[in-house]
Order: sequence, then C-alpha cells, then structure tokens
Amino acid sequence: MQSEATIKNSSGQSSLSAGDEAGKNKTVKDSSSVKKTDISIVVPVYNEEESLPHLYASLAAVLEKMDKTYEVILVDDGSRDDSYAKLVDIHNKNKNFKIIRFRRNFGQTQAMRAGFDNALGEVIITLDADLQNDPNDIPAMLEKMEEGYDIVSGWRKNRQDKLFSRRMPSVIANRLISRLFNVHIHDYGCTLKAYKRDILDNIELYGEMHRYIPAVASWMGVKIAEMPVNHYPRKFGKAKYGISRTVRVIIDIITIKFLLTYSKKPMQIFGLIGVLAALVGLVLTLWLIIERIFFNISLGNRPLFILSIFIFLGGIQFVTMGLLGEIMMRTYHEGTGKPTYVIKNFLKD
Ligand code: UDP
Ligand code: MG
Repeated sequence: MQSEATIKNSSGQSSLSAGDEAGKNKTVKDSSSVKKTDISIVVPVYNEEESLPHLYASLAAVLEKMDKTYEVILVDDGSRDDSYAKLVDIHNKNKNFKIIRFRRNFGQTQAMRAGFDNALGEVIITLDADLQNDPNDIPAMLEKMEEGYDIVSGWRKNRQDKLFSRRMPSVIANRLISRLFNVHIHDYGCTLKAYKRDILDNIELYGEMHRYIPAVASWMGVKIAEMPVNHYPRKFGKAKYGISRTVRVIIDIITIKFLLTYSKKPMQIFGLIGVLAALVGLVLTLWLIIERIFFNISLGNRPLFILSIFIFLGGIQFVTMGLLGEIMMRTYHEGTGKPTYVIKNFLKD
C-alpha cells in the first residue's frame, strides 16, 4: 500500500513537469508492482443516501460485464445524511468501490479532484451520484475514446432539469464558453465525461471549475469528442444548485479566459491598455495646458481636464499592474517548477 502511494505520487510529480515523457516511462516501468486499473470512475456524493444503493447496483452491473479492470471512487463531500453509512456498506460488498470521506462539504469540484488524485485508472470517468447520468453509457464512451480522443464528453441532449433556472442559462453559458475557448461542445455541465489520466494530471481545479475541464485542457492541445448520453430527472433528494450558480459560472469563465489567454503574458494586455490610455491622457492634458498658457482659456470650468488626468493616471496604473503580473507569473512558474508548455512525445535515443 505504502509503495503504491509513493509511486502514484511520483507519477503525479513527473507529469507536473510538462508530462516529461522520460520520467513518466520510468515510473511506469518501475511500478510493475503497482496495480494499475483500466478505468477509474469518480463520483462526488453529497447527501444522496437514497440514490446510492441504486447507483451501486447499476454501476456494478455495467462494470462487471466489461472485460476491463476497474475501480469506483466515491467521494463523500461532507454529507449530513446517511450517505457515509451507505457507502461503507457498498465498500464492504465490493472492494473495487473505494470511499473517500471529506471532513466537511468542500464542493463538487474538490470532491472530484480528490477522486482524480487517488485514481489509478488510465482512463478516468466522472459521473453524478444522483442517478441523473446513466452508467450504461460508459462502454460506448470508452469505445469512442479508443478512436484516439483525450476527452469524451457527455451531451445531455434530452436534459431533464428545470427550464428557466437551469436549462436556459446553461445553453447561453455553453455557447459563450464554446466561442471563447474555441472548443465546440454543447454541454459543458454534464458530469458524465471520460478523460485520459495525463490530461487531468496537468490541470488544477479551483472553485466550480470541474465543468470547464475541456476548455481548460484546450491550452495543452487535446482531442475532444462529444457524445449524446441519457439523462433522467432526479428521483431522490434535492438538487444542490439553483439559479445563483449562473453568476458563479460567469465569474469562472472570466477567470479561466484570463488565465488561459493572458496569465503567461500579463504585460501584453495590461501594458497595451495602459500605454494607450496614458498616451491619450498625456496628449489631452498637454493640449489643455497649451490652451491655458498660450490662448488664455481658463481650465477651472473644463471637466475634460480632470478626465484627462484620470485617463493618464489610469494608464500608468495599468502598466504597473502588468509589470506586477509579470513578476508574479515568473515567481509562480519558477517557484513551483511548473512549465509553460506540455510535451506529448519526446523521441530521444
Ligand atoms: N455534489 C457534491 N458536493 C456539493 C454539491 C453536489 O459532491 O457540494 C454532488 C452531488 O451529490 C451530485 C453531483 O455533485 O452527485 C451533482 O449535484 P446536483 O445533482 O445537485 O447538480 P446538477 O445535476 O443539478 O447539476
Ligand atoms: Mg443532478
């Protein structure tokens, strides 16, 4: 067990360093004693006591039929109902079902992250615990993946959620994300997705970001397929999110867009805006001063004077922010040893 954890850690490390292929291959060779599995299923669970026995039955039925090794990692995200007891029952019945329990509710994204960090599978599939996703879609998704995709994303073509609070905002958000990130899928929100493990090793997840893994992954160049999947209304328990999620989604989109496009060159965006603004402000101020001195036009009753000073100062501030951003970006990449690129293959000797 000990060695398993160590080796897994070191493989996590090696992929941090730009998926350093050499290091990775070594890890794989050395870890012949580690039980690798073909697939890991990661399921976030928060107050889903009634759904869990059904989830177990349908997952086990599908997975046992496939001739692949598997594990299911159920992450109890600080449930306050009987979910944990149900999970322990499941683990006692079938040791392929592993349970992680959080101390408190950290949120769906963190629950999924904990699952990814501990998954041994070459392919990792995520799925909701509330029976809205259908485990029977898994074999087809794996088949699709074997055609050479890095991510296969479920598309709830026939989505069974509330129209105004959930489906409409989601259509708009999906369009927006598709355009902004140039990753054209219809349904970012569907949890049922399959990923190659090295994709997930190269991604950090904060906030509510598990939804945008395909968009975030796009920076490293991935092949993504989308596949219609079944979707059912929630039978038990309550949905954990409402309309307020829309705002959070927008905030996350802005953050991700910024991080992906400009975090490696903050001076390019802040500096450009700043230099332009400072120039405009400077020219305006100078002009007003010339008018005052040579044409004797009073400054006191001209709001443009104040505005031009603001524009100038704002510009200077933007430039300084860009420089600070550059320093922070460098500190981050050099301090953490995180590269600014991801290697796919490295043919050496
Ligand atoms: N979930 C979680 N932590 C949370 C909220 C939700 O682990 O803080 C889990 C929940 O148990 C479910 C999945 O995330 O398995 C999706 O939640 P929900 O069904 O409420 O979201 P929706 O399907 O409406 O997007
Ligand atoms: Mg749900």
